[in-house]
Amino acid sequence: MNYRERLKGKKRIVVKIGTSSLTHKHTGELNLYKLERLVRVLADLRNQGRDIVLVSSGAIGVGRSAAGLKERPTQLPVKQACAAIGQARLMMMYQKLFSEYNQLAAQILMTKNVMLNPQDLENTYNTFNTLLDMGAIPVVNENDTVSTHEIQFGDNDTLSAVVAALIHADFLVVLTDIDGLYTDDPHANARAHLVTVVERMDSRLNAMAKESSGSGMGTGGMATKLRCAKIATVSGADMVIASGADPEIIYKILEGEECGTLFLAHKDEEFRLTDYI
Ligand code: GLU
Repeated sequence: MNYRERLKGKKRIVVKIGTSSLTHKHTGELNLYKLERLVRVLADLRNQGRDIVLVSSGAIGVGRSAAGLKERPTQLPVKQACAAIGQARLMMMYQKLFSEYNQLAAQILMTKNVMLNPQDLENTYNTFNTLLDMGAIPVVNENDTVSTHEIQFGDNDTLSAVVAALIHADFLVVLTDIDGLYTDDPHANARAHLVTVVERMDSRLNAMAKESSGSGMGTGGMATKLRCAKIATVSGADMVIASGADPEIIYKILEGEECGTLFLAHKDEEFRLTDYI
């Protein structure tokens, strides 16, 4: 069976993009070319009648360069200050670009605490649903300004899977700085190849991920992405990890082309989000 065919009909899609795909490596400044292409693709998918949610990193990175810091901050108050500056800048860009394509953008900042309280969880679910019913495109990030170590998701890969599970998305696309999951480290082993489909997640995958966690700038390496795939697939969403070098890859994925690594959904009827966060 060609599993890729089933991606054509996806209706509720979460797209995650990492800091390394949104910023220029050497300056840390926003890559406007990529940002514009990403927004145009998402606006177009929305115009096709699909529900679209964007999970975007970049708050700390953008804030850091706005504040003139040369290195990514390590101290928590500095990170949180950078996130406060950067999230506002990032959102200003998203608002500008989405409105150019006649789209309604919305911001949702999540904290892990919210997910642990059933009432808050339901409120968050209702807010997402209402926004999607309005035709809006929610742009989601962790509320880095107030999240501290004990109460944070920590990486947006996990956050994107949690969002996909929460809103009953049928598809999660994780755009990153590697083409997908490799059988071994492609830099060290010439015979390493891209895994095109993962039918079932098992322990062999973790061994591959350890070898090939090539993601340089973002928080989440390949091991994190496998945890993310676990949450998404048991919640009932297919997931693709693919290169964020050109956001138009999303079109190719939705046309059923063999891009990146596809993780097939295996919905667990007993699935409870709170078991995974
Ligand atoms: N929330 C962080 C930010 O916007 C990114 C976390 C991650 O890289 O996964 O800077």
